[in-house]
Amino acid sequence: MKNFYFDLCSIPVYLLILYTYFSRKIARFPVFKMFYIMNITSLICAILDIVMEFLVNPLPLSQSEVIFAYIVSFSYKLLRNAGMVIYLIFIFAITRTDYLIRTKLGRFLIWAPNAIVCIMLLTNFFTGSVFTVTVNEGYNRGPLLIVFYLVAMLYGVAGMLYCLYCRKFMDRKQFAALISVYVLTFIAVGIQMTKPMLMVEMFSTAIGLLIVMLMVMRPEENIDSRVGVLNYNTFQRSLRNTLISKDNINLAVIHMNYANENRIYLGDDEYYMFVSETLEGIRSFFTELGANYEVFYEQPDNLYLFFSGKEKDVDILLKSCISFTNDYLKNRLKVDKWLDVQTCLLRIPADLSDEDEIINLCHRFTSFIPYSQKFVQAADIVKLRDFEIHSNIVDILDTAINEDSLQMYYQPIYNVKDHRFCSAEALARIIDKDFGLIPPDIFIPAAERNGMIIPLGFKIVETVFRFISNHDLEKLGLSWIDINLSVAQCLQQDFPDIVMELQKKYKIHPDQVNFEITESLTGSMSAIMERNLTKLSEMGYTLSLDDYGTGYSSIQRVRKLPLNIIKIDKSLVDDIFTDEGNVIIKNTVKMFQGINKKLVVEGAETQNAVDILKQLSCEYIQGYYYSKPLPENEFIAFISENNHLSI
Ligand code: C2E
Ligand code: MG
Ligand code: MG
Repeated sequence: MKNFYFDLCSIPVYLLILYTYFSRKIARFPVFKMFYIMNITSLICAILDIVMEFLVNPLPLSQSEVIFAYIVSFSYKLLRNAGMVIYLIFIFAITRTDYLIRTKLGRFLIWAPNAIVCIMLLTNFFTGSVFTVTVNEGYNRGPLLIVFYLVAMLYGVAGMLYCLYCRKFMDRKQFAALISVYVLTFIAVGIQMTKPMLMVEMFSTAIGLLIVMLMVMRPEENIDSRVGVLNYNTFQRSLRNTLISKDNINLAVIHMNYANENRIYLGDDEYYMFVSETLEGIRSFFTELGANYEVFYEQPDNLYLFFSGKEKDVDILLKSCISFTNDYLKNRLKVDKWLDVQTCLLRIPADLSDEDEIINLCHRFTSFIPYSQKFVQAADIVKLRDFEIHSNIVDILDTAINEDSLQMYYQPIYNVKDHRFCSAEALARIIDKDFGLIPPDIFIPAAERNGMIIPLGFKIVETVFRFISNHDLEKLGLSWIDINLSVAQCLQQDFPDIVMELQKKYKIHPDQVNFEITESLTGSMSAIMERNLTKLSEMGYTLSLDDYGTGYSSIQRVRKLPLNIIKIDKSLVDDIFTDEGNVIIKNTVKMFQGINKKLVVEGAETQNAVDILKQLSCEYIQGYYYSKPLPENEFIAFISENNHLSI
């Protein structure tokens, strides 16, 4: 009798894998499903292997033992070979190259060798060419059994080669784990050939699959446990592999508007339950239609659906899915028009084929369409100038930092008491050779996101310092120039030192410069930022709070910071013609003047607005009424003329 203890040991390993699998409720994901089928197949093979040993020993066999042993051996061979095919398909699926085997030729190539084995096994009953089971001799190998092994070997070699070919789709850990199943199986087959009594094959496969489970099939890395679908990491990996494999795919991005507000309103538990119900709804919608898709979730507000490139009329499907989802959400939340979705359909690689550009589009498409537009084709967004700018923003910023496409414009600030312009705000522009003038609303937030704001901010400060040193501000009648600072700049440990170096280099006096920080910045005031701002103030620079009235400033904070100037945001000025708006501005002016802060009102566009602001005793006014931001030379000419100077 053969040594079947290894087979026996493999059973708890398979059971452990299956238990882990079931307890994590991951059965519905296709790759996990395949892995699951593979484990079941191997488990049955191990059991059949053991049962066979007991059935064919001792000899002679009874007639029923012969029949039973025949069925067991037949099933073992059938399943063992099918297991090899399933593992190969699993590798295709995990590397997201399974579109290759979804074609007719692909299906044929992958199943044909297995079909040969099946035919041999089916005809074996008459020919006995693969194996025989007889009363007196028990189990005996047939002359064609070698074909069975050759086919298994063919799948093994093909799988290993494919793993090597797909090396670029996987990290080292995944690659090692996937290929280990083959290596271990080959070693086991080698051992069994030299020592036929030692049945180690199923055990080595079990160990291989355990390695795969531990290193590849990690649901905690792939699944968003709050809502039970694949997570954003997996989406990114799938997207990358799709791009490498040049697969045609339709990607639908479903953006849930006001997701964060809903999360706060509902609370985390209720919100994620709600998202998972929504996902369930979307899933049942597409599954009922028989669509071939995969769904991913990015917290808190984006859903991604991958449809195979061959899926027809995806746009029509999606449109009905959106109206279905919007209706569902409205009924579910009972808060009218609060949560709804906007969807973008992206055809990869036809619309876009660069990973960063795709991700950028996924995250930003809603900012390119009106809120009322619920569906958009990515092709329509890609054509837009703003999107093109965003797609090329790194190069654009790089040129601005290292060459001379950055230009500072200056917007005059009027002093009501002195009847002249007393200062100006420096505002950055990029004059790009391809895109022309790019406003700061586009490139400053982008630079803040990708970290380029630090070198860009340095260049801005340097350009303005150079401007100050090139002109005699006093003669121009200008007391100071405003420079806007970003949060990241203020967070730099050595920001005051950098300013000091530039101050020495350009020989400027600190009171010629006022640094503007925004209200949102004061909200996230950290110790280092507070230290930097205090240091700048001690060095002699003045500081102003920009965009007052738009953020979350608390009077306490405003009082604590060494602020000299408060800049009232345009949105408050726009309301000045209403009674309420008028009272707000009047009292804001009073309040800040009462605590000795200078007050600059931004965004005065008309004579009417300026008149009212003057009545409300606003001292400094900045706005299109006086002048738009101007390039350096035009600004100097403007000031010379309007401050009645002859320079
Ligand atoms: P901000 O600092 O609040 O600058 C004032 C903005 O209001 C400027 O827009 C200016 O052109 C605009 N503005 C002034 N008066 C009027 C008016 O009467 N009507 C209208 N409609 N607009 C008016 P701009 O230059 O597009 O800058 C937008 C924002 O970009 C700035 O808001 C600032 O937050 C940021 N920014 C601009 N330059 C820089 C910079 O050098 N560094 C940093 N960190 N941010 C900058
Ligand atoms: Mg400003
Ligand atoms: Mg402002």
